[in-house]
Amino acid sequence: MSLSAALPSSVHAPLPVLGREVLVPLVTGGEVPYAALDYAASAPALQRVWDDVAAYAPYYGSVHRGAGHLSQLSTDLFEQSRATVAEFLGCRPGDQVVFTRSTTDSLNLLAAAVPAGTNVFVFETEHHASLLPWRNAEVTYLGAPRTPGEAVATLRRALAAGVADGPALVCVTGASNVTGEIWPVRELAAAAHAHGARIVLDAAQLAPHHPVDIADLDVDWVAFSGHKLYAPFGSGVLAGRADWLTEAEPYLAGGGASRRVARRTDGGVDVDWHTTVARHEAGSPNVIGAYAIASACRALTEAGFDRLVEREQALLARVRAGLAQVPEVKVLSLFGDDAPRVGVVSFVVEGWNSSNFAAALSAEYGIGVRDGLFCAHPLVRTLLGAGGGEPGECGAPEAAPGDPALNAIRVSFGVGTPDEHVERFVDAVRELVAEGAKWRYRTEGGRCVPERDRG
Ligand code: PLP
Repeated sequence: MSLSAALPSSVHAPLPVLGREVLVPLVTGGEVPYAALDYAASAPALQRVWDDVAAYAPYYGSVHRGAGHLSQLSTDLFEQSRATVAEFLGCRPGDQVVFTRSTTDSLNLLAAAVPAGTNVFVFETEHHASLLPWRNAEVTYLGAPRTPGEAVATLRRALAAGVADGPALVCVTGASNVTGEIWPVRELAAAAHAHGARIVLDAAQLAPHHPVDIADLDVDWVAFSGHKLYAPFGSGVLAGRADWLTEAEPYLAGGGASRRVARRTDGGVDVDWHTTVARHEAGSPNVIGAYAIASACRALTEAGFDRLVEREQALLARVRAGLAQVPEVKVLSLFGDDAPRVGVVSFVVEGWNSSNFAAALSAEYGIGVRDGLFCAHPLVRTLLGAGGGEPGECGAPEAAPGDPALNAIRVSFGVGTPDEHVERFVDAVRELVAEGAKWRYRTEGGRCVPERDRG
């Protein structure tokens, strides 16, 4: 039975995305439609987002201070986009929605805004965007939990031991960009608040796959990126409590963040900074990016997010079942088979160099996945049981038999993924493992690429 036939009739077809008709060459000859299975890095743009942006583009103008008609229209659209995102995230009255460049930018903004002396608690399993920005805080890195319950217990213990009187912040991912596993955010938020700490949710991987409700989860801030939410126009979001943001120095100093600037008689400059979101949006904002995010939020909501989740879960079940039939494949997991997860699966293949495997999926099957450590080095190394070695030359087995692999392969998908891409991926993995690559590969510029001839 085909995957579509196995789905309940309530489940939609994939949402139309750009690139669905792009053909890519195969090293073995001919062309196939590109199977974009690297959504966790950047998802294709929704057609709807592209169309909305194209319809708005002729009316584009400078925002906020422009006196002209199109400036005022663009200002309205920019502020309406903020309101749409606030609604999409279930923001509370008084929450701010700051437009940033990305999740990384959002978390760096928050890191710059935490009060002096803040204790930050972060699991070592996080993406580097969550792990690294806390340069002005006291950071406690928490070890990798092996169950969601252990994550909550670990955090509780650390907070009990580590929060003195000062401010504290927990930073946690909603869904892992490595395992796809969903973290117990509500429980972690309750633990944080019970100890007087605040919590920021890195929703880079959760928001594109799952409704995120800031009030319902009871998190203080949410960060996500437009380009993972089908809106690749260089925008991101930090949404949540206004107080720390309003009390902090502006993230960027410049026009837009300043209300009034005057020379002092002693030769210096006095600045009166805005206390609204404008405080952290200095410079000309990315209006198209903000509008694109709002368009994606509307598209997901109108399509019925629950039904999109249901369809993605069917794709995920197909991928996991397909991989489980290949004994040489080991899927990476922190929380085990039963953990709820989004459409992100990382794995290694016994006897294969992961980069070589990913290159063969691309060159011989037209499938785009990712290989490496996925900007979550400590987590992937823990899951592989590997030290810090460098992956071997492409073409040679990555590790001696019995030794851990040094990097992994990640397949990820979402609302635009047709069944055929997932079926092609599962068949390709089976065939590559059973029959080997049809081509030879070499390392060039740090990437694994096909040799010029079959060899
Ligand atoms: N957090 C997670 C969980 C991610 O997967 C990523 C990107 O892969 C980021 C943060 C950083 O997102 P961006 O590169 O858009 O800033």
